[in-house]
Amino acid sequence: MSTATAAPVSAATAVAQALGRRARDTGAYPPAVSVGVTYVRDRDYALPTPMAYQRDQGSPAFEQVEELLTHLEHGTEALLMSSGMAAITAVFQALPSGSRVVVPEVKYFGLTKWLRTFGADQGLTVVEVPMDDLDAVRAALRAAPTALVWVETPANPTWKVTDVAAVAQLARQAGALLAVDNTVATPVHTNPLLLGASIVMHSATKYLNGHDDVMAGGLVTDGSVPELWERLKEQRRLAGQIPGTLEAYLLQRGMRTLTVRMPAVSRSAMEIATYFSEHPLVERVAYPGLASDPGHRVAAKQMSGGFSGMMSVFLRAKGGAALETAKATELFLPATSLGGTASLIEHRFTFEGPGSRSPENMVRLSVGLEDTGELIADLEQAIAYGSKAV
Ligand SMILES: *Cc1c(COP(=O)(O)O)cnc(C)c1O
Repeated sequence: MSTATAAPVSAATAVAQALGRRARDTGAYPPAVSVGVTYVRDRDYALPTPMAYQRDQGSPAFEQVEELLTHLEHGTEALLMSSGMAAITAVFQALPSGSRVVVPEVKYFGLTKWLRTFGADQGLTVVEVPMDDLDAVRAALRAAPTALVWVETPANPTWKVTDVAAVAQLARQAGALLAVDNTVATPVHTNPLLLGASIVMHSATKYLNGHDDVMAGGLVTDGSVPELWERLKEQRRLAGQIPGTLEAYLLQRGMRTLTVRMPAVSRSAMEIATYFSEHPLVERVAYPGLASDPGHRVAAKQMSGGFSGMMSVFLRAKGGAALETAKATELFLPATSLGGTASLIEHRFTFEGPGSRSPENMVRLSVGLEDTGELIADLEQAIAYGSKAV
C-alpha cells in the first residue's frame, strides 16, 4: 500500500499529500481504510504481510501517520498511540523500576496527576524542577543518577519556555535521556529531535489532528535510544495503547492542513496577545511571542514561523472574575482541550480542581481559525463583564 515519495520533501508537501499514499491495486486516492483487525493465512498457513493482529503490528493506516510524524519531526521511527497520556505514560512505564526522573514543575496537569498517583508505585523517583532555570536543572542532575529528563515547551498552562538545546546538553552530560512534549509548538514551529532530544511526544488530539474529533497520541525517536524504543513498541503491543484504524485515518486527514493551520493560529494569537497585553483590565498575558514574555528570548531561538496559538490571560480583578469571563464569551467555546479550528476558553483552576497550581485569575485561550477581530471583540466584552461581576 505504501507509495512513499522518493526525494525528501518539505513538511508542507509531506502533509498536503499525506506522503502520496494511494491504493496499490486501483490507485484510489486516498486509499481505502482497511478496518480488519486480523489477517487471514493462506493454504501454507503463511500471512501475506508481517501483519497478523492489529494490537501487535498496527495497521496500514497507522503506518501512514507514523511515517508522516517521523518525517515532520526528522526522526527515524514513530509510534501512534491511543492518546497523549497513553504516549506519556508508556515512556515512564518503559523505564526500569527505580529510575529517577526530572520533570518540570509546570506541565500538563494529567502528567502531574499521574506521577503523583502512580509514580511511586512504578518505582519512580520524581524530581520537579523549574525547567526554565538551567542552574536548577544542572543541580537536580548532579544530585543523583537520572534516567529521564522530561520537557514540555511552551508548557501548559502558563506557557513557560524551556531551552531544549541547553537542557539536552545537560542531560547528555549526566547520561540521562531527554524527552520533549511537543504538543503545543508542533513540528511546524519546533523540532526537538534536532535540538538534542531522543524522544518527542505528541497529544495528536490537539494541533496534529486539529478538529476536536480524534483522541490520539504519538512518539517519535531519533534512533539514539534503541533499547528504550524496543521496550516502547513492546509496551504498546502488550498494554494495548493503540488507537482505532478510523482514528488513524481521521488523523492523517487532519494533519494534511497542519502547515497551513499553525502559521494562521500563531498570527492570530500574536495579535490577540498584543492587544490584551495593553488592556487596562488585564494584569498580563503569558504568550512566548510577546517581547515582554520571560520566555521570549529562548522561544525566538528555538521556534520558527510563530509561537503557536496558546496563551493565558491574567485579569486584574481577582476572586471569580476569570471564571465569570470564561462563562461570558459568545465565540470562544467554554471547553477544555486545545489545538482545534474552534477557539476555546478555559478556567483551568476550576477544571483542575483540588491540587491545581493554576492561578485563579487566569483564563487559558486556544486560538482557532475564526476572524481575529471578532475574537478580540468577544474576549473584550467577556473580560469587561467578568471584571464587573465580582
Ligand atoms: C492534551 C495534552 C496532553 C494529553 O493528551 P491527551 O490526548 O488528552 O491524552 C499532553 N500534553 C499536552 C501539552 C496536552 O495539551
